[in-house]
Amino acid sequence: MGILDSKIPSGPLAEKWTKHKNEIDLVNPANKRNIDIIVVGTGLAGGSAAASFAELGYNVKTFCYQDSPRRAHSIAAQGGINASKNYQGDGDSDYRLFYDTVKGGDYRSREANVYRLAEVSGNIIDQCVSQGVPFARDYGGLLDNRSFGGVLVSRTFYARGQTGQQLLLGAYSAMNRQIHRGKIKSYTRHEMLDLVIVDGKARGIIARNLITGEIERHSAHAVVIASGGYGNLFFLSTYAMGANVMAAWRTHRRGAFFANPCYTQIHPTCIPVSGEHQSKLTLMSESLRNDGRIWVPKKLDDAKAIREGKLKPTQLKEEDRDYYLERRYPAFGNLVPRDVASRAAKERCDAGYGVNKTGEAVYLDFDAAIMRYGSEKALTSGLKDADDAHIRKLGEEVVEAKYGNLFQMYEKIVDENPYKTPMMIYPAVHYTMGGLWVDYNLQTTIPGCYSAGEANFSDHGANRLGASALMQGLADGYFVLPYTIGDFLADDIRTGPIPTDSEEFDRAEKDVLDKINRLMSAKGVNSVDYYHKKLGKIMWNNCGMSRNEKGLKEAIKEIAALRKDFWENVKVTGVANDKNQELEKAGRVADFLEIGELFAMDALERKESCGGHFREEYQTPEGEALRDDENFKFVSAWEYKGEPKDAKLHKENLIYENIEVKTRSYK
Ligand SMILES: Cc1cc2nc3c(=O)[nH]c(=O)nc-3n(C[C@H](O)[C@H](O)[C@H](O)COP(=O)(O)OP(=O)(O)OC[C@H]3O[C@@H](n4cnc5c(N)ncnc54)[C@H](O)[C@@H]3O)c2cc1C
Repeated sequence: MGILDSKIPSGPLAEKWTKHKNEIDLVNPANKRNIDIIVVGTGLAGGSAAASFAELGYNVKTFCYQDSPRRAHSIAAQGGINASKNYQGDGDSDYRLFYDTVKGGDYRSREANVYRLAEVSGNIIDQCVSQGVPFARDYGGLLDNRSFGGVLVSRTFYARGQTGQQLLLGAYSAMNRQIHRGKIKSYTRHEMLDLVIVDGKARGIIARNLITGEIERHSAHAVVIASGGYGNLFFLSTYAMGANVMAAWRTHRRGAFFANPCYTQIHPTCIPVSGEHQSKLTLMSESLRNDGRIWVPKKLDDAKAIREGKLKPTQLKEEDRDYYLERRYPAFGNLVPRDVASRAAKERCDAGYGVNKTGEAVYLDFDAAIMRYGSEKALTSGLKDADDAHIRKLGEEVVEAKYGNLFQMYEKIVDENPYKTPMMIYPAVHYTMGGLWVDYNLQTTIPGCYSAGEANFSDHGANRLGASALMQGLADGYFVLPYTIGDFLADDIRTGPIPTDSEEFDRAEKDVLDKINRLMSAKGVNSVDYYHKKLGKIMWNNCGMSRNEKGLKEAIKEIAALRKDFWENVKVTGVANDKNQELEKAGRVADFLEIGELFAMDALERKESCGGHFREEYQTPEGEALRDDENFKFVSAWEYKGEPKDAKLHKENLIYENIEVKTRSYK
């Protein structure tokens, strides 16, 4: 266990995946009937993997903590999914998607994995269309595309602002077909609390039935962890409230290395924080940057007047506005990658130009787009004499057709009409690029334990480009794991069912029960949320959009102290052997309190700035991220050794043979 062999196949980049598929072991259809696979998580990654395994003939058990796979966090995805189909004829190709993704990740991802992702991206769209996913179409009936940040082509397929929901309906339908056939047994409202290892291989899980509180043992020949990302350790984020790190973290505690924990994506276009009692942040999709222009006032006095409610943004003349992204990055403008856009917003707000009461907001303005679309509509409708008001009305209709649900959401939350006055936005935690370390087969350092989707670290390097998480999750589930898992399972055709009455299951169950008892018997005074909020503040202040040595060292100390306090002074109400949401939260926060420390350690160790990881000590004179390719062109993979402070760092060196590693410029 624990040797970092990424198993990248030899041969030319574009042939690696085909060659690999031709060479790895297969399990014949009759033998698949004798093999069981557990899939933890039924979002896009887990749902697509489970449906594909079952379609191939394996017996699958799926687990999720929601009451239906339909409610996975994937449902929240708004903007779209990338694929290199080149439907726009604007020069796209597998190579370009590969190139953009590696560059977007600031040259901190594996070439071979990313190329494979680009290679299968077109298949994902075909698969989803045949499932009936209603992607947007252009006037001729063909699939439409829009642009996302960090690229110069239009390759994002979308279903209004609900792409994740529609894709999840597709994956869930595919799952349901298999549930109906008896090939998938779906355990909803079940939470994986531990991984069971037998003879060095992942052979099952311990789960808690969240309705009855019962602890259950489930065995299989392989386990797939597709449990999503851990951004909720910041407390405030755009994630679903329940999103957590438990399944991945407990797998880490059993021996799976955890890669790049400090790589977090801060999304530039979220509705700003409004106060202390908030528990959730809302994303305004990146697709809005196709048409919205980002600005702040040019003069500090105007910004102050706006903050004090004495001036309206619509009263500010064009020449008094600073479209700072267009100014700093003329080639990519408002569509620079998320890390760049987020830091630029912070820079303006830190300099005093913020436009809401807290000074932490910039404008996203649709006025120009409304008038542009309106004029075009008037022309194509033969309305030669349309006045401004009419043109505006027509333009608003076009914008509504494109982004209507997002505008409605904004209005409901902020109580301002974004067609009439610019939206206010500010960066927020949105995605974690770090996750379980996996090799080319998506296998963790524990044989038989795989990881897919946001739970693994695989393809995004130090920054994820928009619309590439859905692509990666579905690539993993529909097109990678169904092949690669067979390579491991081919040795298990004669193993027979894995018993659950073994010592290994006894021990794992005992560990789980001990932890639950410890939580229930702490006679403390503070709620679980009290600790979660405190952790979130430490993370945001010291490990957020920018980090420095002093702050990271403080964070490590503060998190360790907070964790100690948690175990002594937390109060978990209710009982263990019944439905108990406070206990569920306590288990999740206990894990956040561990990964938070590792996160800060990882950020401290990485003495460079790259992608979402911005170390203040390492920046160019213009304030851009300054990488250190000589010393940090590696994946950090942490091995669990007890307390987070004892974790051991392993390095997987990244080799670039097909792409020139350059300064990452979007100018
Ligand atoms: C608001 C928002 C908008 C987004 N928009 C886009 C977009 O437009 N394009 C894009 O590419 N990406 C987008 N993303 C990112 C993308 O949605 C996610 O990265 C992706 O959906 C994650 O999918 P997943 O299957 O890996 O995990 P999830 O969808 O998070 O699913 C996790 C699953 O694991 C289960 N689970 C977790 N822990 C346990 C446990 N211990 N036991 C049992 N089950 C467990 C859950 O029940 C769930 O079924 C967006 C993200 C957000 C927050």
